[in-house]
Order: sequence, then C-alpha cells, then structure tokens
Amino acid sequence: MSRTPFIAGNWKMNLDHLQAIALVQKVAWALKDARHDASEVEVAVFPPFTDLRSVQTLISADKIPLGLGAQDVSPHESGAYTGDVSARFLAKLDAQYVIVGHSERRAGHGETDEVVSAKSVAAQAAGIVPVICVGETAEDLEEHGAAAIPAAQLRAAIADLPDGAEFVVAYEPVWAIGTGNAATPEQAQEVCRALRDVLREACGDDTADATRVLYGGSVSSQNVAAYMRQADVDGALVGGASIKADEFSRIVQFKK
Ligand code: PEP
Repeated sequence: MSRTPFIAGNWKMNLDHLQAIALVQKVAWALKDARHDASEVEVAVFPPFTDLRSVQTLISADKIPLGLGAQDVSPHESGAYTGDVSARFLAKLDAQYVIVGHSERRAGHGETDEVVSAKSVAAQAAGIVPVICVGETAEDLEEHGAAAIPAAQLRAAIADLPDGAEFVVAYEPVWAIGTGNAATPEQAQEVCRALRDVLREACGDDTADATRVLYGGSVSSQNVAAYMRQADVDGALVGGASIKADEFSRIVQFKK
C-alpha cells in the first residue's frame, strides 16, 4: 500500500502573523521550483492560532500547495472554556490537521492520555485530521525500552475514534525534540513499525496500511532522506527547522 509522504512543520510559539506571511511566501517560492509535485509529497504548516487566518488567506489566494494545521484544539465544542479554541473554529479557517498530544503540551499543560483522546475525537468530529503525537522520555527509554510508552499512548489516543477515522501518528521521542540528538533511522523505523502493529491490532489492516506514521525529533535536511527510506516512516514532523525557509524547503525536497 502506498502512502503519500507527509512533511509537517510545527512552528511552535514562533512567528507573528507578519513573519508567518513572509515565511509562507518564501516556502511557496521554493516549492514552485521543487522536484515534487503535490501527489509525491504533502507539505503542511502548523502556525500559532493567531497566524492561521493570515496563512489561510495567503494559501488560498495564491493557490499555494501547502496544507494548514493548528497546534492544539479544545476537547469541547463551545462554551465557558476561556482561552481554548474549538475544532469547529479551526475547520472554519480551513485547517485540515491539528496536532494533539505533543510532548510539550503533555509536559507543560498536564495533558493526559484521556485529554489527548478527547481532543482527537473533537477534531475528527469537526472533519479535522488529528496528528497524534506519542513518544518516550529518556527515562522511559531506559526503563521500558523505546516502543512501550508510545504504543500505550497511541492505543489510548485512538480508543474512542470511530471506525475508519483518518488520523496521522507522529512518533516523537522526547529526548530527540529540539536537542539535535535525533533518533537513528533504524530506531525510528523500529518504533514506527511497532506503532503500525498497534494500529493493525486495534483498527485492522486497512487502517494500519493507510495511516501515515511520521518521525519527529531534530529532523533536518541532512537526515530527512534516511528516515524517508525506512519502510514504516511516512514523513516527518519538523519543529525548529520548519521556521527557517531555506532549511524547510530543502527538507520537503528530500531525495530518497
Ligand atoms: C517538534 O516539536 O515536534 C519537533 C520535532 O521539534 P524539533 O524538530 O525542533 O526537534
């Protein structure tokens, strides 16, 4: 089964809306010259909430081949949840994706597996594809090995999704995020393979074969191709390198 490679740029809390416009214009310029056409690799950016409107307007006005995602979503539909943003609002802004369960939110905002599951369900119900992040800390790795914690997180995150729901999985070892200490391609393959086995067991062959499993953690233009050569790695979730136009453009033009 062939899965369209997916490169996702998580800008984190960087770039105001003017800087966002400048970055998207530069990336769009590079994509025009790129070897890939839209059917070969899908590229999406995940700006802060405050940039979504500007980026959406630019993408649609200039027909830029970039997908749009948000970095978080409320598990609730609407109401007295000050500071939260609902999936319905994101859908109105043409967001196709939303990141859920990023380790920075699990660690910094106390997000449990239950919350991540509820956010996945809320996104899916609004027609937005959740990008479910899972990954082990350095301590988890030492205690449980690489795959056990990400596998448990994934099982919990998809437990309440309806049959046939589309989602993306991002394996992001916490020890590799923003450290320059990327997992080896073999390590990434091993865990991505284990995560696909979880999908096979929980959702069946069709979902396991169709779902894209990404690697994230210090991905750069130097190492992206090696990940993309792995059988169970279908793309990359890129953090720091996604806000550097030249570097991100090189990453999306990876050559296997
Ligand atoms: C991330 O935050 O999802 C990430 C992978 O960050 P970085 O690429 O900077 O390690």
